[in-house]
Amino acid sequence: MMQKISPELIQVQHICHSYKKKSTGKFSVLEDINISLRDHEIVGLLGRSGSGKSTLLRIISGLIEPDKGSIMIDGEKIQGPAPDTAMVFQTFALFPWLTVYENVEIGLEAKGIPLQERRQRTLDAIDLIGLDGFESAYPRELSGGMKQRVGIARALVVLPKVLLMDEAFSALDVLTAETLRTDLLDLWWAGKMPIRSILMVTHNIEEAVLMCDRILLFPSSPGEEIHEIEILMPQPRNRFDPAFRAQVDAIYSFMTPGKASNRELTLKRGIGISLAPISTNELSGFMETLAMPPFDGKADLPQLATQLQMEIDDLFPIGESLELLGFVEIAEGDITLTEPGRRFAVLEMNDRKDLFAQHLFHYIPLVSHIKHVLEERVSHTAPISRFLTELEDYMSRESAEETLRTIISWARYAEIFAYDTDSRILSFDNPG
Ligand code: ADP
Ligand code: MG
Repeated sequence: MMQKISPELIQVQHICHSYKKKSTGKFSVLEDINISLRDHEIVGLLGRSGSGKSTLLRIISGLIEPDKGSIMIDGEKIQGPAPDTAMVFQTFALFPWLTVYENVEIGLEAKGIPLQERRQRTLDAIDLIGLDGFESAYPRELSGGMKQRVGIARALVVLPKVLLMDEAFSALDVLTAETLRTDLLDLWWAGKMPIRSILMVTHNIEEAVLMCDRILLFPSSPGEEIHEIEILMPQPRNRFDPAFRAQVDAIYSFMTPGKASNRELTLKRGIGISLAPISTNELSGFMETLAMPPFDGKADLPQLATQLQMEIDDLFPIGESLELLGFVEIAEGDITLTEPGRRFAVLEMNDRKDLFAQHLFHYIPLVSHIKHVLEERVSHTAPISRFLTELEDYMSRESAEETLRTIISWARYAEIFAYDTDSRILSFDNPG
């Protein structure tokens, strides 16, 4: 039977990918990913840090080869770098020794395009994206927003069918990012962009709702299903529109599913719980904010994110750390202080430390485990490497190091353990 040519612009079929661990073995990042991109749409890949979004984008662009599966672009299976795509990165990746003009043109040189045409296309791209007059400037003379415009022009100049953007706005300040988003959308809706579709990775829920026709919600652990949300609101969209807010709310709720407490699931992993690098200052500041008006102990996550100007990559790890510690509960897009959480927020410093220590022992198995090991040793000390090796049975080397750094900082705050950074040795804070 002849294979039917697909009407989809991009088809991602059964993509699997894993990376090598530093020690031995592999860890899986993408498992059986199937998505598609149609003509003339903006699709967002939304998910938390580490969920494999960049990996998938790099696979689609042909920069890395997947372990399994295939990518079809406009009916053709790609092998190696995909000429029909161009990527815009978070960090602008400009050549500091080239001018704006040269940075944009460089995308064409490799393609053997005649000088005259190269020149015209470069100037067109520079003009389109609002860089007119900056042709001979060097990257160091440009603001972040202008640098990213160069990044976009360089992608557009090759006239790709699909523009791939990997968190292209996340290194910019709030206002600059918003201006650039709006400018891009204006060009897009005016039909001025020389491309057919946009596939953009983001961890910013509002950005996704603002820009995308469809959002694909990436699961946090590989193998779970990708959830698709169609955003039907007309453009231009207004962040303050109740329909917009409702959409953002719905996505938050989806990302913080019901009471099937994450904590219980996590606790089953015993000492193998990986901890995000969150400081006790962040934890206590967060509980204080939550305890105060207008929240009075309970907040809608999107509202809190707006108020604190936090994105999900900042907000969720703090929320989840507090949930793990028994200080908050998160469900259906709401975060609520537990009774100890409310108490913590109003206690004096020393009482806070006591309460925090109790919760560390009660909820974080690794803390009791370290205590136990220290007690058993004659010296009552242990090198950190001892625990590092142990944690590596459950997670990557990087996560194990990060987890130990976090635990040490929490346990120091709670005055449970002391740690000598030179010798990398753990001991009790208050020996004897
Ligand atoms: P995201 O873009 O969603 O944050 P990534 O695709 O960058 O996710 O990464 C997914 C996971 O793969 C992370 O745990 C990351 O540390 C790991 N990873 C990414 N690139 C590499 C690499 N080149 N080698 C090893 N591990 C990698
Ligand atoms: Mg990424």
